[in-house]
Amino acid sequence: MHAVRVLRCRAGDEIQVVDGAGHWYRVCLNHVQKNTVIGTVLERRVGVNEPSAQLHIGLALLKSRQRFEVFLEKAVELGVTAITPLITERTEARSFRVQRARRILVAAMKQCRRCHLPRLSVPRHLDEVLMEEGSVLRCIAHQGPYPSLLEAVAGQELRGVSVLVGPEGGFTEEEVRYARGAGYTAVSLGVRRLRSETAAIACASTVTMHRSLGARRRSA
Ligand code: SAM
Repeated sequence: MHAVRVLRCRAGDEIQVVDGAGHWYRVCLNHVQKNTVIGTVLERRVGVNEPSAQLHIGLALLKSRQRFEVFLEKAVELGVTAITPLITERTEARSFRVQRARRILVAAMKQCRRCHLPRLSVPRHLDEVLMEEGSVLRCIAHQGPYPSLLEAVAGQELRGVSVLVGPEGGFTEEEVRYARGAGYTAVSLGVRRLRSETAAIACASTVTMHRSLGARRRSA
């Protein structure tokens, strides 16, 4: 148990607890045993350190499981609220360890003090994801003469955003055409070709930083 083995908590200590469903608690520990901790809730809050709007990233499964896992950890830190591992035409990887991925998300959630565990989908085919309707701003990252993601999200700080990122070999032109036909905006992340997980992290960072700026402007 983290509180006992890692934090070395004792009776009388105050700790912060999150439940992954959006709740944050300040707790005073009454009894601390090896496998059991009992405490009194002193304060309860909702949505602590959570983003103001939904941020979904669909990242194609990668040949390197480790690279995908790096994305999972960083995505939590950067405020991503939902993750979909994608199967696209050029996706070579097929296996995905959902339980292991969940453990990474939980550890990252605790580390960065969020209280909501991002939703993690099972791997889904791109065309299935593209067919879904929704009110979020939907983007597909692809190298080319497209507006930047930053331009696409400008003025949309309060709206949910979904960005799709391709596998090592990228999306096919047909996939991008199909996505645009389904209402997606093709967006560029700059002139350099980024690795998939870097691109996905950059997308999360761009949207999150843009929202923070919008929030600061609104409160000024
Ligand atoms: N040869 C592939 C191509 O030309 O599409 C490169 C794919 S890149 C390694 C993997 C994914 O990261 C791409 O499918 C795209 O979603 C995203 N990506 C990487 N660099 C990008 C950039 N500069 N602009 C937009 N998306 C980018």
